[in-house]
Formats: sequence, C-alpha cells, structure tokens
Amino acid sequence: MPRLFALMMMLSVMPAVAGPAQDAHVHGQASLNVALDGAELTIEMDTPADNLLGFEHLPRSAAEKSQAGNVLTLLSQPKKLFRLNPEAQCLPDMPAIDAPLLLGRPVSGEHNDISATFVFRCAKPAALSRLDVLLFEVFPRLTQARLQFAGPTGQRGQTLSKAKRSLSLK
Ligand SMILES: [Zn+2]
Repeated sequence: MPRLFALMMMLSVMPAVAGPAQDAHVHGQASLNVALDGAELTIEMDTPADNLLGFEHLPRSAAEKSQAGNVLTLLSQPKKLFRLNPEAQCLPDMPAIDAPLLLGRPVSGEHNDISATFVFRCAKPAALSRLDVLLFEVFPRLTQARLQFAGPTGQRGQTLSKAKRSLSLK
C-alpha cells in the first residue's frame, strides 16, 4: 500500500510538471482529443475546473454546490456542447465524466481538472464533415481549446476559439 500511495502522490503532482502539452493546466484553455474511427467519433476533453465552474475547490456554499450541479447537468448533455453536421445522423452515448470536484470527492492542491469523454455514433459516417465546438458559448471562461484530431486521413492539430470553433472532419 505505501508504494501505491507514493505512486498516487506522484500522479497527483505530475500535471504541475512540464509534460505533454495536453496536460498543461492553464486557465482559459482546454484540450480536446478527437478521434474518428468508422462510425464512432470520440472526444476527450480535459480542462481546468475553473473554466467550467469558476473555482477549483470542493463546492462549499449553496451557490457553489448549485453551480457544480449545473455543470454536471451540462456535461451530461453532449449535444449542447458539440454539434456534428446533421447529415451524418450522429447520436451521443452517455458521457464518461471524471470530475471529483463535481461529485464531492476529496481533491488536493489548489488546481484541479475536469475530464470527460464523449462518444457519438453516426448512422451515416461517410457524410461526416464538420464538428462545431459549442463549449465557448456554454462556458464563457473557456477561451481557447487545443485540439488534436485523428481520422482516416491522419492526424493534425488546431487551436479553436469562440470565433473559430469548427473542425473539418474531411
Ligand atoms: Zn487551476
């Protein structure tokens, strides 16, 4: 157990160390990893909790608890956060949300992240052409998303913002 605990401690401090770009914790920024595999589009989102909540500690006041509930509700509605061109006829699965803060679980340190994985299944994947990221309207504290896209034609990176929120899936 002590070794496991030590490993967990290491993992919990790692984001503070310079690592892969997607692990950087910068308020206002999020990272999105988008993968298109057959009829399935997966979006992994990793963001400082501040971008969604406005704070990064466990909710204390009634207002903070209510805000945490609102964010959890929004994260469980993928169609409010991402829009795919309708011709592809995609439907979202229930998202997998990794957010100790929102679930009232213990957190350590002054900075905390929220991660979520969204999967859309498309009836006509050949018609997929565009992903619009609506996060900037829903969460105004978020100003920039560094996006990595992996699809049938390879990989590429792109930076999205409210003014430039679309990713071409072609
Ligand atoms: Zn932070």
